[in-house]
Amino acid sequence: MRVRALFDKAWRHLLGLALPPTCAACECALPAAEPVGLCPDCYAKLPWWDVTGVLPPELPKVVKCFGAPLLYDGLARELVLRLKFKDGTHLAPLLARLMLPKLPKGDDWLVVAVPMHRRAFGGRMFNQAVLLARAVARLRRLDFHVDALVRVKPSDGQAKRTRAQRLKLSSHDFVAKPLVRARRVLLVDDIYTTGATARACALALKRGGAAEVAVATVAFTPASLP
Ligand SMILES: [Zn+2]
Repeated sequence: MRVRALFDKAWRHLLGLALPPTCAACECALPAAEPVGLCPDCYAKLPWWDVTGVLPPELPKVVKCFGAPLLYDGLARELVLRLKFKDGTHLAPLLARLMLPKLPKGDDWLVVAVPMHRRAFGGRMFNQAVLLARAVARLRRLDFHVDALVRVKPSDGQAKRTRAQRLKLSSHDFVAKPLVRARRVLLVDDIYTTGATARACALALKRGGAAEVAVATVAFTPASLP
């Protein structure tokens, strides 16, 4: 992975020295003090999801908190897809910053990412959830462990399954390491759709001894709400 990611980072750093900062979405020039990385027009186009305090019903009881700043639509969808598939790894800190207001309070959280099975990496060689989780942990100064939760079974074409089939995803597809024991765990992913993955991960974390789980994603699809 790392060679390409390091090359991208070095290249962006060099460009950054030569050019003024630009909007991550439309690439227009940004005012120097712009903290988010988006111009005011793009920021205004983001489909904000202003709901707080909602727990999607498929999440198990060990999950006490759920938060996502955006609906999975329009510019939010575009940014998530770029992060995932189009060399948009530099978008992770920006998206993590948008997540901050929806994260649980407290400084004792252990941040973990929804893991990918090693076979699923394919040509991509990175897991966007890990990039987001690492950025969230950095911004909030929280503990982060990249392999606290491991996927032991491949996803078996999740995207092509029906909703009912996806909800059958087993918590035994994931294994939590002993370091989650008695910890409050903040589980990070890019999108929340059926909630099947978050549910399976939360149950695996509970089985591993986690005291409490919070789920945070960049974007949310409200289909699962009653
Ligand atoms: Zn813009």
